[in-house]
Amino acid sequence: MPKQVLVLNASYEPLSLVSVRRAVVLLLREKAELLEATQQMLRSNRQTMAVPLVIRLVHYVRLPHRKVPATRAAVMLRDAFICQYCGETPGRQLLTVDHVMPRCRGGRHDWDNLVTACTRCNQKKGSLTPEEAGMVPLRKPFEPTYVALVLLSNPVAAARWEHLMGLTKEQAKPDYAHG
Ligand SMILES: [Zn+2]
Repeated sequence: MPKQVLVLNASYEPLSLVSVRRAVVLLLREKAELLEATQQMLRSNRQTMAVPLVIRLVHYVRLPHRKVPATRAAVMLRDAFICQYCGETPGRQLLTVDHVMPRCRGGRHDWDNLVTACTRCNQKKGSLTPEEAGMVPLRKPFEPTYVALVLLSNPVAAARWEHLMGLTKEQAKPDYAHG
């Protein structure tokens, strides 16, 4: 049984992941409609219902922009665990978070100044600016949206949403730069 159900807004944009129990409540209260279900059935003494995988809210929900804290884990997730200097993926244990503009040079601890870096690149760069070190991040760091991070943290949910939207893998990359 899936642990999480993907919730789409009325506009079909992904909103969040909720528990199966929460999704069932939304469906029973007719706050959401079922878009995709598993073969498994949930039975109660009153009714039988397919275990939901994807539901869509009946009414559009306008969400305030949720600021995502730039934690080590979140920065690495945004960067897909790829060192933003050499492009390698040495694994979480060998990855660090680097301040592109070093703190001692006035760089801030913020999304647009933090990138994932392997320990080797981080040491090599040290307290040099990108220009001094000749090391510029592969992708300009940015603040991701909450939903982009939720989907990145759950590739299964992201894939279901892509499938539902009829998007190819290439098109369906979360457009977090403009979320
Ligand atoms: Zn590296």
